[in-house]
Amino acid sequence: MPGPLKTEAVVLRSLRYGEADRILHLYTPRRGKVGAIAKGVRRARSRFGGRLEPFFRLHLVLHEGRGELLTVTSAETIAGYPRLREDGAALDTAARACDAVTRLFDTTEPHPDVYNLLCNELALLDAEPARAGHANQLAFRIKLLLAAGFAPQLAACASCGQREHLTGFSGAAGGVVCPACEAGSFPLDEETHAYLAGALGLPLAQTPAAEPRALRQAERAIADTVEYHAGVRLRAATAR
Ligand SMILES: [Zn+2]
Repeated sequence: MPGPLKTEAVVLRSLRYGEADRILHLYTPRRGKVGAIAKGVRRARSRFGGRLEPFFRLHLVLHEGRGELLTVTSAETIAGYPRLREDGAALDTAARACDAVTRLFDTTEPHPDVYNLLCNELALLDAEPARAGHANQLAFRIKLLLAAGFAPQLAACASCGQREHLTGFSGAAGGVVCPACEAGSFPLDEETHAYLAGALGLPLAQTPAAEPRALRQAERAIADTVEYHAGVRLRAATAR
């Protein structure tokens, strides 16, 4: 029998199971996404307290049995993000971040950079709940694309390499395109291009602001890229 697995994890989802148990979807730095069961967690005197809820960052001890689910034997809180939980928009943005990780990285392959990005996002939403919203959600997604290995090319035409008149975006080409290579692209405003470059290159806490129209275009660019390269559809972001 393999021994216990000690790992950090973020709770992506927490589902009621049976009388008192919970099934957890966890994201870990070294094992990617894993499923676990916590027994008796919904009893009043459970040793787990309330910490097996979505968005908690935990130190866990997991026991590997014969089934697909690991069993949680110990859980200590690293961060509970209490301010995030008091803000509706921050909660919504955190849920969409967890959902995007689930859809793009539904694998046990390790992606420690994705784990760190998710922790950064939750910490930012906890420190500054007012950051929640469209610009932040899209910046998180574009950084997920980078971690997945298909960040859009933004500095030059993704088809021919020309560096000027980059007026379109093509998910199939993998980035911005010039008028000569615009087949299959949609028009991209300069402001959208600047937003995408800033969101990709700057820390999450410095995500540039942009007009709603630019953010709608940016969302389409991200969605086209994800659909073309990963065959995945993300939930719509919260436009506001
Ligand atoms: Zn071109």
